[in-house]
Amino acid sequence: MKIITVIGSGLIGRSWAMLFVSGGYNVKIYDNQPGQSAKAITEIKKQLVELEEAHMLRGELSAAQQLALLSSYDDLSQALDGAFFVQECVFEQLEVKQSIFHDMERFVGKDVILSSSTSCLVPSKVFSKVQNRSRCLVSHPVNPPYYVKLVELVPHPETAAAVMDTTHALMTKVGQAPVLLKKEIDGFALNRVQAAIIAESWRLVQDGVISVKDIDLVMSEGLGMRYAFIGPMETMHLNAPKGLEDYMSRYSENITRMLSSFGPVPDFCGEAAKSVINEMYELIPCDQQHLAARQERRDQFLMRLAKLKKD
Ligand code: NAD
Repeated sequence: MKIITVIGSGLIGRSWAMLFVSGGYNVKIYDNQPGQSAKAITEIKKQLVELEEAHMLRGELSAAQQLALLSSYDDLSQALDGAFFVQECVFEQLEVKQSIFHDMERFVGKDVILSSSTSCLVPSKVFSKVQNRSRCLVSHPVNPPYYVKLVELVPHPETAAAVMDTTHALMTKVGQAPVLLKKEIDGFALNRVQAAIIAESWRLVQDGVISVKDIDLVMSEGLGMRYAFIGPMETMHLNAPKGLEDYMSRYSENITRMLSSFGPVPDFCGEAAKSVINEMYELIPCDQQHLAARQERRDQFLMRLAKLKKD
């Protein structure tokens, strides 16, 4: 039976563990806080049972069968014993990640793939203390990974092509949607596109062009309707009678003109930002009760969308 080790048992570590057991892998969870990985299994058990009751459990195995594949460790070498793939999910701090990968290398064979969940750190920094970097990559999930399937696979400059291929096949096997970046870049692909959307949305509100409520509707009732199923490239290709080149011959002048009027990066934190932030707080008050209710609503919608896409 193939073994995967998950390092760090917080939100993302637990999610990866659930995905890997759904694909039938044995998953060993390690956390450096004693007892934390055992607690994570208790939490995962609750979630798997709820998912089974809601008919949303992923994979072919029952919740009980998936649970039987999980084990918890407070000792790093025992946790890594026998693994062919390691998914790191510790705090998003460069020194913490560098040090855990350095420690891990002492306990794994040279062919074991070392993968990081980092959202913001480039592989050349994360793996700088690893000796054999050809087996290292970032596999960046999107929260919550159980419903949002994208995984960005980002190579270190020295990563072997076979390591990218094996990880792509693994992610596909557990039902995720992996994409391959051909080289590392700050923010990878998803966060760069997201930053572009954030910047222009913020600017339009700050400049008094549109309200916070309405710019969110531009996405949720407009662009987002298509983007849950087809991306911007296919959207353009389908939006002109003769495809993408035709689209660009019709619209590229407008797009170029608009892009050149975008201006500098907006002020997100200073005085100018306060009116945007207050407008949001009037819509959704910034207290635990309101935020938790909206988070619950978001996750319910994501769950239903994931089901729709599966059907
Ligand atoms: P978290 O704070 O919920 O969990 C981190 C866990 O790592 C904790 O249980 C902690 O005890 C453990 N830990 C810390 N140092 C450790 C060490 N040296 N060895 C073993 N365990 C250690 O964090 P999270 O939200 O699960 O994020 C984990 C990683 O996933 C981060 O790199 C983050 O950027 C990335 N990520 C997070 C999200 C998200 O939305 N939360 C999305 C994508 C990627």
